[in-house]
Amino acid sequence: MSDCIFCKIVAGELPSEEVASTNGTYAFRDINPGAPTHVLVVPRQHIADASVIRPEHAEMVTEMVQLAQRVAESEGVAERGYRLVLNVGEDAQNSVPHLHLHLLGGRRLGWPPG
Ligand code: 5GP
Ligand code: ZN
Repeated sequence: MSDCIFCKIVAGELPSEEVASTNGTYAFRDINPGAPTHVLVVPRQHIADASVIRPEHAEMVTEMVQLAQRVAESEGVAERGYRLVLNVGEDAQNSVPHLHLHLLGGRRLGWPPG
């Protein structure tokens, strides 16, 4: 996807602050953090959002969640806890149409989210 900002970030065509990565996934700091730790985990492969995940994406989704686990450890939030979020569509205010897992932590998070 040539006009997708997260594809460009993954390709290194747009700058980002890398936190961790694997063959199939990339984790970087959110540009507008909503918590002391706010990292986005994306697949290198373009996929729009969680509404189009199918069984063939199982390995990719597991890789994303496991990278988030690793980042939670390295960010020091694993013990106290953290939130993983996938926004889909307008009501969830999904703004970037490339699947991304938000990892939020480092403070007590409100529930339900606003
Ligand atoms: P969404 O609302 O789509 O679930 O989340 C998109 C997230 O991407 C937002 O939290 C926003 O701050 C972040 N974001 C948007 N553009 C960029 C960018 O160019 N670089 C980084 N690092 N984060 C971005
Ligand atoms: Zn993309």
